[in-house]
Parts: sequence; structure tokens; C-alpha cells
Amino acid sequence: MRTPFVAGNWKMNKTIAEARSLVAEMSQALREIKNVEKVLCPPFMAIFPVAALLQGTDIGLGAQDMYWEPKGPFTGEVAPEMVAEFCEYVIIGHSERRQYFGENDETVNRKTAAARISNLVPIVCVGETLAEYESGRTEEVVSRQIRMGLKGLTPEFVEHIVIAYEPVWAIGTGRASTSENANTVIRDFIRKPLAEIYGEATAQAVRVLYGGSVTAANAVEFFSQPEIDGALVGGASLKVDEFVAIVHAAAKRA
Ligand code: PEP
Repeated sequence: MRTPFVAGNWKMNKTIAEARSLVAEMSQALREIKNVEKVLCPPFMAIFPVAALLQGTDIGLGAQDMYWEPKGPFTGEVAPEMVAEFCEYVIIGHSERRQYFGENDETVNRKTAAARISNLVPIVCVGETLAEYESGRTEEVVSRQIRMGLKGLTPEFVEHIVIAYEPVWAIGTGRASTSENANTVIRDFIRKPLAEIYGEATAQAVRVLYGGSVTAANAVEFFSQPEIDGALVGGASLKVDEFVAIVHAAAKRA
């Protein structure tokens, strides 16, 4: 049985003061929801103050990215060990990083391997663009992202990672995938290659989330699908009532 998982990706939103007030508004309600792993991913600058507010709660903290090198002349970058001082999770390979910052399967692979060294749980994002979707290339793209992104990792590590299937055409567009489509992609293009590489037990242990315009209104539908273990939530994670309702919906899945 896989524990449901919901992470809020705040993206480049919230100053420290705004982050503090958002956490103050939502943390009590989130703490009351059991049987689901809940994670907040603020921007780097807000991680330290948010960590202080979450101390002693069962709400996890994640970064939205990191570099793979342990230290050195990499101006502007943040090392895995620095992230791990405050966070247990790190989002890797979000489509916005792939689209605007030149990330690819190789950088995702390096970052995911670096997460292991620092005992971080990576939330590895995969998903096809609109053009790839419309030309019927979803299987090719998503299974390649899985194979290349997780290349060389051990089954023992892979079973603890979290994967987010996020079709790029559904992110921030209000046009969510159907739950059936997301379920099929996860089963056939994510768990299947995982089973081929790491074995069936590992493929079944990995939590796979859906992400892309998840709201309180559609979350129950996504979580009713057997392959969908939770959600990576962008826009709705900045709205207290929406995010709390999504986490509630995931808890009911447990
Ligand atoms: C995301 O950024 O990972 C995401 C899924 O965004 P949204 O929920 O806003 O579509």
C-alpha cells in the first residue's frame, strides 16, 4: 500500500513575509489530516523561515531545484547538502526548468543521483509537451525521461523516490488531463519501464503523482484512479482552502 503524497510547488511566488503568513494560515488544517505525506516547496529564500514554522509538525519541506555538485565555483547554484540542511525533498526536472533553464534527461539524472547522496527524496517530474502529445509521442517521451532520468540508480533508492507525471500542456493552463489518461500513462509508460529495469516490486513501490491544473474540484477524480498516488500542485497550492481540500481528498484514498 503506497502512502498518498501531495506536494505544493509554490514556484517563484511569495516573499518571506508572504510565505510566513501562508504557512500560518494552512499549517493547522494540514496537520489535522493524517495518512497522507504533505510537502510544501517554497522558493529558496523562504525555505529557512518556513522550516522554522514547520518544526515539530508532520508537514515536510522541499526545494524546487538544486545543483548536483557538492560545492565550488557555481555562482547562483545551491548544493544538495545545503538543501538537505532544511529539506527532506527536492523537485527535479520540472518542465519549467526543462523549458526555460536548459534542463534535460542528463541533468535530471545527475541531480537525482546527487539527491541520493544527501538523503533527499527527489520528486522527479516527467511529461510530454503539447506538440508531443498531439503527435502521439507521449509513450516515447515519458518512457525515455524515466529510463534516462533514473539511469544507473539502484532499485533500493528508486523505490523511495517520487515521480510526478505532469503533461506540460496541463500545467498552469486550467486544462487538466483526464484522470483515465493520466492513469494509463502512469501504468504503461512509467511503471512498466520501471518494472523492466528495476523489477516489479520496485515499480509497485514507487509513488507516482499526477500534476497539471489539479484543483479541489478535480482531485477526488484523480485520486480514484489506482495508479495515481497523489498530486504535485502548482497554482492551487497557493490557496489555503484549495490546497487543504486536495490533501483531504488524498487522505481519503488511503
Ligand atoms: C506544477 O507546477 O507542477 C503544476 C502542476 O502547476 P499547476 O497545478 O498550476 O498546473
